Amino acid sequence: MATYVETKDVKIFIDPGVAVSPDRYSLPPHHFELDRHREMWQAIKQWVSIADIVIVTHYHYDHHNPDDPTLYDNKDIYLKHPRENINPSQQERATALLALIEQRARSITLTDNHKCEIGNTRIVFSPPVGHGILPKLGYVTEVLVEEDEKFLFSSDVQGPLNNEAMQFIIESSPDILYVDGPATYLLGSHYKKSDINNAIENLSKVILSTNVKTVIIDHHLMRDLNWNEYIDILSKVKPHVRIVTAAGYCGRQEEPLEALRQQLYIGQVV
Ligand SMILES: [Zn+2]
Ligand SMILES: [Zn+2]
Repeated sequence: MATYVETKDVKIFIDPGVAVSPDRYSLPPHHFELDRHREMWQAIKQWVSIADIVIVTHYHYDHHNPDDPTLYDNKDIYLKHPRENINPSQQERATALLALIEQRARSITLTDNHKCEIGNTRIVFSPPVGHGILPKLGYVTEVLVEEDEKFLFSSDVQGPLNNEAMQFIIESSPDILYVDGPATYLLGSHYKKSDINNAIENLSKVILSTNVKTVIIDHHLMRDLNWNEYIDILSKVKPHVRIVTAAGYCGRQEEPLEALRQQLYIGQVV
């Protein structure tokens, strides 16, 4: 979900990380995925290099990368609180990241429930909200960037699956919402049908009770080959609200390489 946002006042990079799933359909990443991973990391580095602010919403390695701390040199860094409302594995990763960047960053601000203004741009961070429904996955902070338009980055709320995450979105009433979507590919293993329905219902509520114009839905949803079905359902809630993937928003064709991994291995995708 690595995202660059620019206003007249400030250039912001949210969650500078990219990862490939080590095991999907009992297969390791295909070389297409590994090539794309390298390309995306280079792109992230380029966009971060022109950013003033870097935000890390939580400490999963698809949202930050401790292997290249030079990324944080002379940036104002906004971090999810490293010790409060955090699960043990993310706390360990947060401590490691802080040690790496403390001497490099221009400033470090902890974000949980934080607000700041830079010129006419307001950045509002949510209270810590659950990474889905189970506390074992930890917490994230959602990010609202407000200037002429309001852009909201949900981070990993898996839908949203919980009320707190949804409430922040509804109260913020963004023009553009970028949300990770439900992990429908884990249906039957980690999630019940009712969880997925709940996530879709919550997204419908967001569309119905806000002035959102564009919903970008990606990340977890794009790990499912049938992602389109969920986009279709949501497109019917308010027909003038655009529901789109991150690729679609950027005017590109979707390439859900992980979901296509089996087909990549047998050469059915070119
Ligand atoms: Zn995560
Ligand atoms: Zn993630």
